[in-house]
Amino acid sequence: MTTLYEGAFAKINLTLDVLGKRDDGYHDLQSVMQTISIRDDVEIDIGTGKPWKLLCSVEGIPTDERNLAWKAAKVYCEAMGKDPNGIEIRITKRIPSEAGMGGGSADAAAVLRALNRYYGDPLSIFALAELGAQVGSDVPFCTLCGTAMVEGRGERLRKLPDMPDCVFVVCKPEFSVSTPELYRKLDTVSIAKHPDNRAMESALLAGDLGKVAENIWNVFDPVVTAEHLEMNYIKSIFNSYGAVAFQMTGSGSAVYAIMPSFEYAAVVCNMLKENYPQVYIAKPV
Ligand code: ATP
Repeated sequence: MTTLYEGAFAKINLTLDVLGKRDDGYHDLQSVMQTISIRDDVEIDIGTGKPWKLLCSVEGIPTDERNLAWKAAKVYCEAMGKDPNGIEIRITKRIPSEAGMGGGSADAAAVLRALNRYYGDPLSIFALAELGAQVGSDVPFCTLCGTAMVEGRGERLRKLPDMPDCVFVVCKPEFSVSTPELYRKLDTVSIAKHPDNRAMESALLAGDLGKVAENIWNVFDPVVTAEHLEMNYIKSIFNSYGAVAFQMTGSGSAVYAIMPSFEYAAVVCNMLKENYPQVYIAKPV
């Protein structure tokens, strides 16, 4: 029996734009995504001689075929002609759920990378990411990691220069947002402001953190903030402790801030912890 270990890193959206609804009902997105250092740990035993099994350290997350990590193992084994029996996946969960941080997708991507490595890297990272699109729309980016422009349903990826080093604070409020409902709401309003993805790309090319911060924008943020005024409270705390930028990630409900230093991040983290148990300090990866 062999045990594989792989880190499953969370993502945030530096920008997120919805370009329109497609004939198949999905929306076309354009987003600059960034991997951050908040991570789950994924361990995979191969050759247990038993039927497949999945264990997760946190209750409330499915441990059957609904788990994205399991779906990823199935998709990989089917594509490569391997037997999924004899696989046991154990997930130590730290990425908050229903946060817009791609927690399940990160686990799925970690399984794809680990299995591909075990079999001698037959698929390139981009081929692996393409396979990940069958599991979920954030899985391709979570497979690639780093900084990237993500388009379509999430399956079109273009690597961008690494984000300049900085310190993030991420705060996940208690409430969760239903992603399908959020898309339905967005379809009924006209988007007042779109992110300038070209400007974001230029900022990354120049390695200019100030310009990156200026161009952070997520079209879902105003929609969620209008319904959950608590988002304004979190943002006001970030603002009063010197955040360079703050924004909701993905379809929420986590909000992140870029802080001017680790010291400021630690102070704002302690402040938010009085009301929010799920507050984290992170770095770009
Ligand atoms: P995204 O940013 O991709 O929208 P999210 O932060 O909204 O993701 P996840 O943490 O990925 O949400 O979890 C959403 C739901 O997916 C959970 O409620 C859970 O039922 C299901 N799920 C399936 N597999 C996993 C997994 N490995 N880890 C966490 N949740 C999973």
